[in-house]
Amino acid sequence: MSNIRFYDQVVIVTGAGGGLGRAYALEFAKRGAKVVVNDLGGSGSGIGENSKAADSVVAKIKEFGGDAVANYDSVEFGERIVQTAIDNYGRIDIVINNAGFLRDVSFTKMQDRDWQKIFNVHVDGAYSVTKAAWPYMQAQGFGRIIFTTSAAGIYGNFGQANYSAAKSALLGLGKTLAIEGARKNVYSNVIAPIAGSRLTETIWDEEILKATSPEYVVPLVIKLCDENSVENGGVFEVGASWFAKIRTERSKGVAFGVENNVSAEQVASRWADICNFEQSEPALDIGSTFVAVGDMVGLDLLAK
Ligand code: NAD
Repeated sequence: MSNIRFYDQVVIVTGAGGGLGRAYALEFAKRGAKVVVNDLGGSGSGIGENSKAADSVVAKIKEFGGDAVANYDSVEFGERIVQTAIDNYGRIDIVINNAGFLRDVSFTKMQDRDWQKIFNVHVDGAYSVTKAAWPYMQAQGFGRIIFTTSAAGIYGNFGQANYSAAKSALLGLGKTLAIEGARKNVYSNVIAPIAGSRLTETIWDEEILKATSPEYVVPLVIKLCDENSVENGGVFEVGASWFAKIRTERSKGVAFGVENNVSAEQVASRWADICNFEQSEPALDIGSTFVAVGDMVGLDLLAK
């Protein structure tokens, strides 16, 4: 087992002033990376700004001899964050899209601004930082990008329509960039963490918060960002020292034959078979959809 090091590599960690981001930033710095510690320093619901959060993490990194610089821009201004990396260190190798907050409210009571603000930060923010870093990564033939989804983004959750929709968007973005970046050794992966932090401290008790310390998530992020890691396009659940990979699954399905005009009643009559997972298969990429439907109707849909 060789040690994972990030000498001569520059990493941006967004939302690194607290919680998970802080834990990532400290570990990258301990492993030799130069770290851009980005944090807007607002409240848990995304209100206000404060440079203290980022500054305190930079100070902590410098205390043990690490190299870090603060950036206080919102992730919505990704170019400025990437520029901080370029101005201070001349390159960017790794982006950890982590910044975020919650505006939990039932869909009935949700205001447009609750929806929009969550999208602005989670989706537009991750887009903006990644888009600005992308050309550098493409040109140098190396990059590692992490997107942070959530169990709410994978499965949905009551009171989190805005957050789960935004976190789902990051699944799509991460998977597509994994495909687009692969040829240039720019790998993207998506994580759904479980961590005791400002985000969860009001809903979990002390024991759970301790057992889910952000430090338990860090090893996955470090592993995925290692230059020797070939993992690309993966989706992982992680927390409390538990690490697991998620994949989608497709039932065998029912083909009625393309020559037939199938009615809703016929579909209803075979519902149990359509939803039967006994002969299911992993559904790993968009091509598998065409192969599956093609197999069922006797056509090669990928031929052209
Ligand atoms: P946290 O509140 O401790 O940390 C988030 C940080 O992001 C804060 O320091 C905050 O100031 C910063 N931030 C917020 N908006 C910003 C912006 N516009 N620009 C720059 N920085 C901004 O929360 P956390 O639990 O460490 O969450 C980190 C990420 O993990 C988030 O994306 C969150 O949605 C995700 N997540 C967390 C959990 C969990 O169990 N804690 C579960 C699923 C997903």
